[in-house]
Amino acid sequence: MGRVPVTLLSGPAASGKSHACLQALLAHAQSSELATAWAILPDRAQVVAFRRQLAAARGALGIRVETLPALVEDVLIRAGQQRPRAGLPVQLKLVSSALLALRQTDQLTHFGAIAGTPGLSHMLAERISELRWAGVTPEGLLKAAGPQPGLVDLAAVYRQYVDQLQAIDWDDDAGLTARAAKVLRSQPEFALALGLLVVDGFAAFKPVELDLLQAMDLDGLEMILTLPGSAEPPGRALQRFATTQRELARRFPKLTTKILGPVRLPAPLVALQSAFERPLVGVEPGESISLLAARSPLEEVQEALRWLKARHVRHRVPLDQMALLMTESDRYLPLVVEVANEFGLPLRLQAGLSMAQSPPIVVVTDLLALVRRDWPRGLTLDLLRSPYLDVESLGLEGTRIAQLEAASYAGQVVAGIEQWRHALTSLGQRPSPKEEPTADEPGSTGLPSPAAATELLRAMEQLAHRLKVRPTQPLSAWVAWLEDVLDSFDFFERAAGQHDRDAMLRLREVLRTLVLAEQVAGPAEWTFEAFARDLTATLERTRYRPRIDWRAGNLMVVGLPDSAGLRFEDVALIGLSEGQLPAIERPDPVINETLRSALGLTPRLGRGQAGDFYLAVTRSDRHLLLTRPTLAKDGEVWEPSPYWAEVRQLIGLSESEVPLVRRGDPRPLVEAASVQEVAFLAVRRGKLPKSLEALAPRLEPLRRARQVIEARSADSASSVFEGDLSAAHKLLSDWFGPTAIWSPTRLESYGTCPHLFFSGALLGLDQVEPPTLGPDPRQLGSLLHALLERAYQAAGAPDDPESVNQALQRIAPDAFARAPAAYGFRPSPLWDQEKAEWLTALRETVIALAEIEAGWSPFAYEQSFGRAGQPALEIETDQGTIRIAGIIDRLDRKGDQVRVIDYKTGGSHLSSGDLLAGRRLQLPAYALAAERTLGLGTVTDGLYWVIRQGKAGGLRLARFKGDEDQREVGPKAAYQQLEQHVSRIVQGVRHGSFEPEAPAGGCPPYCPAAGWCWRYQAGYQGS
Ligand code: SF4
Repeated sequence: MGRVPVTLLSGPAASGKSHACLQALLAHAQSSELATAWAILPDRAQVVAFRRQLAAARGALGIRVETLPALVEDVLIRAGQQRPRAGLPVQLKLVSSALLALRQTDQLTHFGAIAGTPGLSHMLAERISELRWAGVTPEGLLKAAGPQPGLVDLAAVYRQYVDQLQAIDWDDDAGLTARAAKVLRSQPEFALALGLLVVDGFAAFKPVELDLLQAMDLDGLEMILTLPGSAEPPGRALQRFATTQRELARRFPKLTTKILGPVRLPAPLVALQSAFERPLVGVEPGESISLLAARSPLEEVQEALRWLKARHVRHRVPLDQMALLMTESDRYLPLVVEVANEFGLPLRLQAGLSMAQSPPIVVVTDLLALVRRDWPRGLTLDLLRSPYLDVESLGLEGTRIAQLEAASYAGQVVAGIEQWRHALTSLGQRPSPKEEPTADEPGSTGLPSPAAATELLRAMEQLAHRLKVRPTQPLSAWVAWLEDVLDSFDFFERAAGQHDRDAMLRLREVLRTLVLAEQVAGPAEWTFEAFARDLTATLERTRYRPRIDWRAGNLMVVGLPDSAGLRFEDVALIGLSEGQLPAIERPDPVINETLRSALGLTPRLGRGQAGDFYLAVTRSDRHLLLTRPTLAKDGEVWEPSPYWAEVRQLIGLSESEVPLVRRGDPRPLVEAASVQEVAFLAVRRGKLPKSLEALAPRLEPLRRARQVIEARSADSASSVFEGDLSAAHKLLSDWFGPTAIWSPTRLESYGTCPHLFFSGALLGLDQVEPPTLGPDPRQLGSLLHALLERAYQAAGAPDDPESVNQALQRIAPDAFARAPAAYGFRPSPLWDQEKAEWLTALRETVIALAEIEAGWSPFAYEQSFGRAGQPALEIETDQGTIRIAGIIDRLDRKGDQVRVIDYKTGGSHLSSGDLLAGRRLQLPAYALAAERTLGLGTVTDGLYWVIRQGKAGGLRLARFKGDEDQREVGPKAAYQQLEQHVSRIVQGVRHGSFEPEAPAGGCPPYCPAAGWCWRYQAGYQGS
């Protein structure tokens, strides 16, 4: 048989390379009934597209369209040399077993300390795969690298990996491809059975793939390869393909190259393509090229999909003929899936979805983390509330879980099944429930009754039994354990949709592969920690493909480096801002760039991203849309990518001329891409067209939402949606009428922000922090406060700091020992150091307090007014008599003068300005109560004492100056301020004025409304 040439068809995009391949295949198939021909495409998506073109040309008989692995498999089966394929989980297992074996025998000098970490197994498995595809053996690596410890270890692991594969008679993809090449060299008849081999759609080849093709360079087998290229000297974007072309010329000395053309595209797309080869003055974009900017990646995705949907609906472009290309798949893919779902666009995802972002898979990894981290409070409650786990069979439905959460606060559960047991046991043993309100009665704490606590304890014990783990067992036993656990929660029956089912199916496959991998690598005992860590890391790196209906059209979604060989009518390319393209490149920490180049590995730096951009913008036959986001996550301006800027200049637009779409911009109803958008736009316009009246019921909630948003977006708060309760002023005037007793703290909360008073004092909400180890700031304040109080009372001479400190020394050990139970916290591991530190602070504060002014001696502590049988402080105001109750921390006397002291743990917002603003009212209220209500003498001074800083706050009553128009100074001026603020505050409360007004200096973190309030302002300093 005569020599048949190897032909390389080169040319720009849309120059007819695939069409020429198709024609060659059809001609070959028609030449003889027995003729066979193969077309090899890079992936399944392109295989499907190519098969459709063949079918449309009525010429599919006798032609196989496959990927390269299918050809490899075919050759090996016919040669009787097929081996089981080692997929990623098996490869990882082999690498991790090699690492462990080498560590046990002290053969790892560089990676020994981290040999058990899944991250290292994954990294080395990736490098080994690269070396395998480059045809580099472990010995070849060592020879090229020299004695570098990291690479010596890599070579050792690689050697064990290869030996294990050989021992079990399996092979990985690279090994199977190399094996097929070897078969073809010794038995060319297997290749000659094909009359024609077409390899289309590739932008580059790995060395082992080229070996295989080279082995098929035989007399009698015609081979046609295609590659992007140009008749011109290659520009920056085409360099990468020129390199591949040179390599092909080296491997196939008799290669015939044909440059195809002309490009069959609309003129603007031809001009854009030409710009990659030679400088162009300008391009008239017409309707073929559009640029669009949006503020965020989400809005960008919405606009790109809206454009594609419009092309499909209005211009009847089949979905299969359209694609969305992305620069940053990890950032964009979840957004694309979400928006496409809303727009009703079925997708074909070339790379699949990340298992780590699939909700049911997150539940699985959280379950493993629950056991690993010993039942952390938040994670336990989150899992019990997960819709993927049926815990009702354990008696843990919604109300019960709420009770469990309340119990965790009451019992200060941080983590540990023992803490859960202790909290529930204590609640189960407390006295009769008759005195306690039920969960839905006013005043309820939400805590379970003793009987309910006992039930909860039983449920938690069952759960703990279900999740009990052995110290070690084989991997297959761990997989069985996990499947049993998941089945016991009906996990696999609780999928919320097709995506969940696909992810769960993939999880089953991963678990099966782990069992297989154990059979391959040999039995070994695994700890639960190792199993959980390894499985979690594997799931994080695994992707799944949502099932699609191949009969219906699907919009293709492709990451940028993988768009070679695909052609569509309309293409949207998203993500053209700085840092997205070109993406930031990082060097390989294991194999440096010089060595990578010497070994024939793909470079990590200078990857030729211009080539990716060229491929992306040349995928469209009709229309191309380029988009970019303009605002980064932090609200900063996001600069455009240089490629965007080049295209923009080419089509003669300035940046300000590029249309910028904002989510809130008005748009015609016909541009709505989903029912939700129709409803949204109709609410904005105020009416719905007759043809869409069926949607009317959906509008009401949106109208109300719009009202709320508009009210909250106003410059100042003044609506029923933000604290205007004036409609309820009668009720409020009753509640807060003449008989109401006020506390200084409540008055201060309104003085700080009316809405803070509304959410805290009126709605009874509290900012609840999850329990942590050690006392929280409030508990610590109470503890230090009580210690100081008791020390002064126990001291023989309270005006002598030495005597007070001796008393402190005596009482502190017992007080500290009782503190965890008394205040309800769990000591941290630093408890002993913390106690010593607090005791030192208290001693120093006693000395400093004595030094601020000589002659004062304490005479009363915890002095009540308005409670404990004492009269309330009465203040006459425009609102009538206002009655105030409180407890004065300490009173000192010097001669006939009295001084009030209020202890504080933190030192912020204690200045005169805070009194003038109405945020601090305690001190004048206490002073006035001591003088006027309790008749303890004339108050001449008052101060806040900051315990942990050992100093007084800025406000001193003796030196206080009021407003400019106030003549009084000292306590009297402070009393006048108090009266004015009390009058204002009570009036505001009775009138129902609770509009939020962020305090100067920022909102306090303890504000219960901070989580939802639209007027929240950060910047608060202090505790
Ligand atoms: S978050 Fe700020 S503005 Fe809003 S209620 Fe709280 S303190 Fe007031």
